[in-house]
Amino acid sequence: MKYDMLLLRFGEFTLKGKNRNRFEKTIITHIKSILASYPAAEIQQEYGRLYVALNGEDHSKLTVELKKIFGIHSISPVVVCPSQLDKIIETSASFLEQMDLQKETTFKVTARRVWKSFPHSSHEMNHLVGSPILKKFDSLKVSMKEPELQLRVEIREQGTYIYCEVIPAVGGFPRGSNGKAMLLLSGGIDSPVAGFTSMRRGLEVECVHFYSYPFTSRKAKEKVMELAKVLSGYTGEVKIHLVPFTEIQTSFTGHGQDNLIITLMRRSMLRIATMLAEREGALAIVTGDSLGQVASQTLPSMNVIGRATELPLLRPLIMMDKSEIIEVSKQIGTYELSILPYEDCCTIFVPKSPSTNPNLRIVERIEASLTNLQTMLEEAVGRTETVVLTPDSVIEADREDGIDEEWF
Ligand code: ATP
Ligand code: MG
Repeated sequence: MKYDMLLLRFGEFTLKGKNRNRFEKTIITHIKSILASYPAAEIQQEYGRLYVALNGEDHSKLTVELKKIFGIHSISPVVVCPSQLDKIIETSASFLEQMDLQKETTFKVTARRVWKSFPHSSHEMNHLVGSPILKKFDSLKVSMKEPELQLRVEIREQGTYIYCEVIPAVGGFPRGSNGKAMLLLSGGIDSPVAGFTSMRRGLEVECVHFYSYPFTSRKAKEKVMELAKVLSGYTGEVKIHLVPFTEIQTSFTGHGQDNLIITLMRRSMLRIATMLAEREGALAIVTGDSLGQVASQTLPSMNVIGRATELPLLRPLIMMDKSEIIEVSKQIGTYELSILPYEDCCTIFVPKSPSTNPNLRIVERIEASLTNLQTMLEEAVGRTETVVLTPDSVIEADREDGIDEEWF
């Protein structure tokens, strides 16, 4: 089918009064960055609606990209014809012809006369367009309630828009419109999904990843960067902070409290993320925690871990089942990367039975006994490398630690 335009609909933020202009501007900037690769296409704004005139550009490829723009709720590819009755009937018929309907399909016409000087009312138009179409196509049967196919006809002064499809898009709030947060990004399934859901809610997300050379491999770090790259596909670019964690992690061993190592590690991660958040102007920390999933995600664990920061801890997946999280990770394109086997810094040194009910006083006592802990945290922040990734970035992790894959 040859379409003339894409009609873009906004999500719930349209309700938010005076922010609407700001939100629209953000979406338009986002659309423009995508249209850079479709030079003939143009944005058109009309009566609070947004269209992209295709001018010959491929509608299906562009739709796939526009569907990822946060704040866009749905997209309809539209054919345009002059607002004259005969042309509207003719175009509607050829529109359906090109759909190549094989089996019996229930159908109705929903006309909307926006241009009040058009001589026929919306109701009349339903019949005037519907009757000749039903005569022409044997496979179509009228159904007023829940038809399988709804031909929408919008009559405007400058032209009539005809379309059937309403393609769901990602929805949410426009890119970065709700402030900034730091995302603790591991190589697992959960945290990239937490990142995506935060971005969709309009949070600007900067990723923080903790790695432990030589206990974790270069491949593990590359994998996380690849995951961040996938996330950047939703916003154009994403910043990732790579924090060396080996020294801090090893300092937690040998206290005769191996079951608390994960608790201690998580608290240090939060402290470092908090320092980075202050530096970068972020107001919250996002994690991929899901209640009860592992020992560090029981309520008593989260209670002890969460006390290490005063920033709000956002856990978008907290009440989701693993199967639901996996479903989202497949949809957003992170699943295949997440299941690659490279180990995370938390899977090494994992005690046989990590505590599901850590004692805050013991945890604090161990931390207090490490007199250089604060210095180590600050040094780790100082040695953090920051990389800005885009969907086209080529990732080659640095070689400066002088450790090769063969090391393992
Ligand atoms: P994920 O699939 O996100 O790794 P998980 O179920 O494996 O989650 P944990 O490994 O217990 O859970 O991690 C819980 C959360 O802590 C992660 O979702 C992530 O936000 C954070 N996290 C864990 N390891 C790291 C790391 N190496 N760097 C940054 N954040 C991490
Ligand atoms: Mg993990």
